[in-house]
Amino acid sequence: MRNDPAVVEAKNLSMRYRGRYRLFKGRGEETRALQMVSFSARRGDTLAVVGESGSGKTTLLRCVLGLITPTDGRVELWGKPVSEMTAAERTAARRRCGYVPQDPYGSLPPTMTVMEAVTEPWNISRPGELREGARRARELLSELKLPEELWNARVRYFLSGGQRQRASIARALILDPEILLCDEPTAMQDVSTRGELLDVLKKRVDAGMSMIVVTHDLLLARRAARRGIVLYRGEIVDEGDSSVLLEHPSHEYTRALAAALPRL
Ligand code: ADP
Ligand code: MG
Repeated sequence: MRNDPAVVEAKNLSMRYRGRYRLFKGRGEETRALQMVSFSARRGDTLAVVGESGSGKTTLLRCVLGLITPTDGRVELWGKPVSEMTAAERTAARRRCGYVPQDPYGSLPPTMTVMEAVTEPWNISRPGELREGARRARELLSELKLPEELWNARVRYFLSGGQRQRASIARALILDPEILLCDEPTAMQDVSTRGELLDVLKKRVDAGMSMIVVTHDLLLARRAARRGIVLYRGEIVDEGDSSVLLEHPSHEYTRALAAALPRL
């Protein structure tokens, strides 16, 4: 398996944002969100992207998905540069990727019911198989322990942040993605649902799915991923086996992240 081509490969990614984003920034001021970031993942690989808020983690995922175009460097999906894909190729590649955005409030269509939101990606790509989509959605929602009485409830009014996040994961998994990109997937879960959720993801990884998990939490990085990269102000300052990053961090920034964790 080591000789498989990478499922996702990023080479020297840099991203600079221009202009006003936060109010306190001056006009025309530039943010270097990513600087010369490289990484890759093969089939069945898990990679954690670790760093504090503002370190560039979400930007990295959005570059991988082609939602934003990096200022420099490139992303290849299944060996093909995203920048060289036609619109149709990009859509096809995008369908093989599942994305769990950071904000579960913005990521689910608010006026839909949970079932509608979870089945939507399936129904768009396989309109002839609606019953199978509904069956899969029910299976995923039970696996993710979302209470059945919520399945037909409207997302906007009845779901907590953690429940929305689990619905958002079901939506990302319904097309059996080959890569799953998760942005802080357990940030709103309590301790018990967190473990169950990671088990659901692990089962997919064991079956060959690749996964990139963004988190500020080295403990979660170790539980969810075999390897990790540590971002600080858009640069990779440390990388390696995720248990080594947690237990024997070599870079001072990783040590600070590890020291900030609650004692076990
Ligand atoms: P993280 O997900 O690690 O918190 P982000 O990737 O969201 O980090 O942001 C990295 C940096 O880029 C931050 O300084 C943020 O303020 C800035 N940034 C993110 N998105 C934009 C944008 N659309 N326009 C301008 N600056 C942005
Ligand atoms: Mg983020």
